[in-house]
Amino acid sequence: MPMSFEYRGMLINLPDFDRERKEYFEHAAQKKLVVQKCKGCALLRWDPGPACPWCQSLEWTWQQVSGKGTIYSYEIVTHAIQPGFRDWVPYPVALVELDEQRGKPSPDEGVRLITNVVDENFNPEKEENVGIGKRVEVVFLPVAEGVFLPQFKLSKEQPTERVWQFQNV
Ligand SMILES: [Zn+2]
Repeated sequence: MPMSFEYRGMLINLPDFDRERKEYFEHAAQKKLVVQKCKGCALLRWDPGPACPWCQSLEWTWQQVSGKGTIYSYEIVTHAIQPGFRDWVPYPVALVELDEQRGKPSPDEGVRLITNVVDENFNPEKEENVGIGKRVEVVFLPVAEGVFLPQFKLSKEQPTERVWQFQNV
């Protein structure tokens, strides 16, 4: 069955042929964050897709991850292209590096996800609270009946590296 749901007034369709993304959301519905693990080279990857970016193998399996990570980079959106996010501006979008597989397959790589950074009420986190190096953890935003979107919120863990922000506020 194709998945179809509305998110912030936008219609999201996940057709049957997008098996990887559908299964990703099926795991999210059980409050599990999963990434693909290649059966060829054993590396983890995100975003969901058919082939391994490292070795091109089409063989893979799902692996649940801790949902803990660090903000690797971020931006503040001040002009929302999608109408559904206009009332959110300014809001942060982050590239989160998961704790799993940091520094592999090379010292500059890891498993990184694009995500909104939200507070405990699933509203956008304030700009002054977001910074590179801050610790985050996954939360599952209820979007529609049986549909949860993995998002990240700031964790209570202290950063293990120097925090960098766009501006000192
Ligand atoms: Zn591979």
